[in-house]
Amino acid sequence: MDVELRAVSFRMERVKHKIMIASGKGGVGKSTVAVNLARALQARGFRVGVLDADITGPSTAKLLGVEKARLQAGPGGIEPVDSKGLKVISMAFALSGPDSAVVWRGPMKMAAIKQFLSDVNWGDLDFLIIDLPPGTSDEPLSVVQLLPDLTGAVIVTTPQEVALLDSRKAVNMAKSMKVPILGIVENMSGLRCPHCGELIEIFKTGGGERAAEELSVPFLGAIPLDPEVAPLGDEGIAFVEKGTAAMESFEKVVDGILDQIGEEN
Ligand code: ADP
Repeated sequence: MDVELRAVSFRMERVKHKIMIASGKGGVGKSTVAVNLARALQARGFRVGVLDADITGPSTAKLLGVEKARLQAGPGGIEPVDSKGLKVISMAFALSGPDSAVVWRGPMKMAAIKQFLSDVNWGDLDFLIIDLPPGTSDEPLSVVQLLPDLTGAVIVTTPQEVALLDSRKAVNMAKSMKVPILGIVENMSGLRCPHCGELIEIFKTGGGERAAEELSVPFLGAIPLDPEVAPLGDEGIAFVEKGTAAMESFEKVVDGILDQIGEEN
């Protein structure tokens, strides 16, 4: 095994479950699902880290309220940033400001992800949640190559046909790379009217479940559109911390993921 891969496996041996969160297209709530999954697992008593593997468009640091943090070296390597007990690593911590852009080609992204896996002092973790950029780009490939023991992938979609079409591609990509698929999450699935309680199907609903059936992968659940989610995200707060309308549905998704991997709740 090459020296760098050995360094990755040395660190990653201490991480029990590595789960990547993927989507076919952007804007479907992938990063929102990643940070809420991390927070929900933390609330259930697990030790959790979050790796933002979106090198050119990192957003998890902002969603976790730590976008101003900077990388620091410690005796055990690069120290992950602490977000209320979550260990977080993102390219955002190496950029000079929120509007700085990273223009990197595939091999450099691979090198950055490798360094984040091998040189960061993650310590002992029950879960490392890896937020990928949308689509079938270099990053998922790098993550899969570097982590042969990946626990699996969660695919996030919205109910529109365009998103579903792309989510099928994401599922097929994961299948072709032999990554176990923990399931599909349908996000922004209808809006519950705060006045009468009726479910308004803004983009239709149920497409994620049908896609999961067609592709023979588990359906983990649907999360409604919730007007509280975006403002909370902007403040760096996960909606599961606040008991919003989306929280109850999200906890079922978390139950489903834990069931898939045979972990006690
Ligand atoms: P992606 O990672 O797929 O690009 P994000 O997680 O950044 O998507 O979400 C895109 C936007 O949609 C964010 O402003 C987020 O707060 C919002 N959002 C995500 N899920 C929901 C939801 N269930 N209800 C309302 N807004 C949501």
